[in-house]
Amino acid sequence: MKRVHNFSAGPSMLPLAVLEKAQADLPDYQGSGMSVMELSHRSGLFTDIITNAEKLLRELMNIPDHYKVLFVQGGASQQFAAVPLNLMKNGKADFVNTGSWSKKAIKEAKKYLDVNVIASSENENFTYIPTVHKDMIDPEADFVHITTNNTIEGTAYHEIPDTGNVPLVADMSSNILSEEIDVSKFGVIYAGAQKNIGPAGLTVLIVREDLIGNATPQCPTMLDYQTHSDSDSLYNTPPTYGIYIAKLVFEWLKDLGGLQAMQARNEKKAALLYDYIAVSDFYSSPVKEESRSIMNIPFIIPGRDLDGEFVKEAQQEGLETLKGHRSVGGMRASIYNAMPVEGVEDLIAFMKKFAENHQ
Ligand SMILES: *Cc1c(COP(=O)(O)O)cnc(C)c1O
Repeated sequence: MKRVHNFSAGPSMLPLAVLEKAQADLPDYQGSGMSVMELSHRSGLFTDIITNAEKLLRELMNIPDHYKVLFVQGGASQQFAAVPLNLMKNGKADFVNTGSWSKKAIKEAKKYLDVNVIASSENENFTYIPTVHKDMIDPEADFVHITTNNTIEGTAYHEIPDTGNVPLVADMSSNILSEEIDVSKFGVIYAGAQKNIGPAGLTVLIVREDLIGNATPQCPTMLDYQTHSDSDSLYNTPPTYGIYIAKLVFEWLKDLGGLQAMQARNEKKAALLYDYIAVSDFYSSPVKEESRSIMNIPFIIPGRDLDGEFVKEAQQEGLETLKGHRSVGGMRASIYNAMPVEGVEDLIAFMKKFAENHQ
């Protein structure tokens, strides 16, 4: 068996231990004679899986009791519409524009309500996170929306804005479970699973209970948070296999010591790479220091046309998917939870060698 270090931004690598557990379980899950994929979503075995997945996520993120955990489909992109449809009352919302995903969320929300972009870093190519003060927020806004980690640009909030009584909604797709967060600061957290949780097809929602049950009459049943809340995410067939893999990932995280330990490991990985880029006179980071992501790390080779060569040679050494997003260029190393420290060390060793060969 050959495994590479996969630096893909998403879908991204999963822990080998999880894949091996899934492989062992595949044809006959717990003596049922069936794969998890073949189990009824109403069966006892699957009920145990989804119940435990929720329990583990609550434990890992320390989710307060007055929040619901919902497992839905449609990706984070579906939530760009679902959030306004569930939360709108006054018909206006405040958004912070920190990159491509924020822009998509803004564009979709504009179909339903008046969007006020209260802060943006577009003027500097989204290379930093703008400061959000409480007095910038419209107290009548239905919610404030942020993208906590900007997957494409490689920026992240290191302080969660205080939005007072206005619910804070966060697209946490690319940094959920990467560090400890205080869930009680948020009204809604949503994340597509394919970065830090499991396979694509599952979307995780964490919603404060008072924000459920207020959807507009036009809101499709499947986008209404109440639908999924009332049925414990079993209104229709949920993405059963994705939920099962997520449960295995949550178990893996817990065994590793939970989010505190994961955060320490992620900070160490990111520091190794940023520190090397800082001392190197060959590579540089396009992102302002105080706004850097520990999950997605873009880097460039200034003044040289070597990106294609870098990506090609890296791939030959088992370092996969390092091409930067087409909107940013350069390279990007996505080092989510599942990326081991050795993956980053191997990347840095390759970067050193590549720099020497092309000085
Ligand atoms: C990947 C990503 C999305 C899109 O997720 P889908 O599940 O593909 O809809 C949205 N926001 C952020 C921050 C992402 O990283």
